[in-house]
Amino acid sequence: MNEIRRELASIISAVKTRIDLEKRFGVDTITLSKSNSEKERKIKLLEELRGEMLACHKCPLGKTRTNLVFGVGDPMAKLMFVGEAPGRDEDLQGEPFVGRAGQLLTKIIEAIGLKRSDVYIANVLKCRPPGNRNPLPEEIVLCMPYLIKQIETIQPKALCALGTFAAQTLLNTKAPVGTLRGKFHEYKGIPMMVTYHPAYLLRNPNDKAKVWDDMKKVRDFLNEL
Ligand code: SF4
Repeated sequence: MNEIRRELASIISAVKTRIDLEKRFGVDTITLSKSNSEKERKIKLLEELRGEMLACHKCPLGKTRTNLVFGVGDPMAKLMFVGEAPGRDEDLQGEPFVGRAGQLLTKIIEAIGLKRSDVYIANVLKCRPPGNRNPLPEEIVLCMPYLIKQIETIQPKALCALGTFAAQTLLNTKAPVGTLRGKFHEYKGIPMMVTYHPAYLLRNPNDKAKVWDDMKKVRDFLNEL
């Protein structure tokens, strides 16, 4: 009986402490701790995946890369960008979208009121194709399971495919990016906008307005969540 009383007293004290914390800090501590542990869980899963990929030599690009380019950003991100493959700068730094195209992507992200650190950015291929050649179909097939796991872990509310390879791979289509862009498609139930790759925009600055139109749709979608 005494034991039950002691147990009850300790539960009541824990509840009082929580109410006191909420009063003092004005936050729902349970929600906060849930979201912290969810973030920790995602970080752990992504780190395990990175470890797996560091040892990956499933395709020949594993031998020629300088660094694995895993992905970067907030594991709790609502918006995830998917590009094509690392270029020279990305291969040297081990981070996606850090060269000129990357700077443009950062501007695009900021244009919709977000910071680069608010989103998650990854590529279809995690190792650089030599000389920045296009990814080969067999390389995409071998590397794709990693991107799928990244998307499953992050569970973004929206995806944005940058350019032909990301769009065609995720949507399993051969349709050109010019006809896919500008509208939401779906990847495994996640709404996915398709737009031009920033590297393409550097060569075709006249199409910047189209990307801005596409990104406004993404911004409006996220604002309505
Ligand atoms: S590109 Fe992908 S499949 Fe090929 S070695 Fe790198 S991580 Fe492995």
